[in-house]
Amino acid sequence: RAKESGRNALRFFDPDMESAVISRVAQERSLREAIEQQQFCIHYQAQVQEDGALTGAEALVRWQHPERGTVLPAEFIHLAEETGLILPLGLWVLRAACVQLAAWSQDPGMAHVTIAVNVSPRQFRQAGFVDQLIEVIGSTGVNPERLKLELTEGLLVENPEEVAGKMTLLRARGVGFALDDFGTGYSSLSYLKRMPFDLLKIDQSFVQDVLTDPNDAEIARTIVALAESLSLGVIAEGVETVEQRDFLASIGCHAFQGYLFSRPLPVNEFEALVRRG
Ligand code: C2E
Ligand code: MG
Ligand code: MG
Ligand code: MG
Repeated sequence: RAKESGRNALRFFDPDMESAVISRVAQERSLREAIEQQQFCIHYQAQVQEDGALTGAEALVRWQHPERGTVLPAEFIHLAEETGLILPLGLWVLRAACVQLAAWSQDPGMAHVTIAVNVSPRQFRQAGFVDQLIEVIGSTGVNPERLKLELTEGLLVENPEEVAGKMTLLRARGVGFALDDFGTGYSSLSYLKRMPFDLLKIDQSFVQDVLTDPNDAEIARTIVALAESLSLGVIAEGVETVEQRDFLASIGCHAFQGYLFSRPLPVNEFEALVRRG
């Protein structure tokens, strides 16, 4: 024990560790400033059916860094979540997505497109989330039926009743729910049954090797069967090849998202993609 804490004490003065702490403080400061200055934008990635028809878009946030250019969420969402900055950032994304959805509703070529927004666990758990979203829906005038929220399994572990309660309130207004990255977390199937989800998203880690790894193929099959038995939709993410798409279709998954169809695109390019059909 003494030895262990001694080692920890030494590690505290490790210069690498110290610079890591300093750079974390600096990162947090620059993220906070980026939020204040609204240095973010949303890219939209197509969600398509087997016949290629585009039904929706997933909203994926990007940081337009003045020096670094476009920074992907892997580089800042975790820090945002840890520091609580995900609350203002997540609210900005929700509002921006709803403003976009409201604009599309006035545009005959775009009015059918739904938007799925990722909501982090901390954001969904915050006390005012339901009222906040209802306010955003009201002030932007969007049809809540066109709005989907993507939640992750991690959210369902703690206080599942509270989560289900919030989902039910929003569901009553028409908001849809997808369970993102399904199969990678710890969600108990018994909870899943009691939560008003509409859609399971097969995580891209299973899709990647679905043709070569029998375990991944079996997991994909199991998720499709589970979705069917719970009367939920199912969509595969990270579909990059025709062979992956065809295999997924052969096991009963008929909705897809992935580079095969489109990368996440800036809004004008996404609109052009939809208009081309
Ligand atoms: P996700 O919600 O599972 O989103 C799918 C990710 O897979 C996106 O990465 C997308 O660009 C990527 N992707 C899509 N198709 C393919 C493909 O065919 N191949 C490969 N290799 N990748 C593909 P992205 O945009 O970097 O986002 C990463 C994660 O960051 C998202 O995973 C989501 O968990 C999180 N995220 C993104 N935007 C937001 C946001 O506004 N709020 C929150 N809380 N999280 C967000
Ligand atoms: Mg997602
Ligand atoms: Mg996902
Ligand atoms: Mg993910």
